[in-house]
Amino acid sequence: MVLNDIMKYIESEYGIINSTPCEICGGSYMADELEIHIIDNIPYDVCVCVCSECGHEKLFTFCAPFLDEKDIFKNAKGKMN
Ligand SMILES: [Zn+2]
Repeated sequence: MVLNDIMKYIESEYGIINSTPCEICGGSYMADELEIHIIDNIPYDVCVCVCSECGHEKLFTFCAPFLDEKDIFKNAKGKMN
């Protein structure tokens, strides 16, 4: 999968985050941090989101099977650091 497809995937994740209201105040979440976690050999996108209204923190977890540990995973890590 090329980087462009990954960006599309992440954009769709942001779409889900943006359409999810805060469970405390109903405000909208903003993506704060994006991490890749490997659980049972399956990569997961873990997005730390913060409510723009009340600051409530919520984790969004997305299965990201397209992420190749060898190259994309490294690239993603490199970008975040
Ligand atoms: Zn809130």
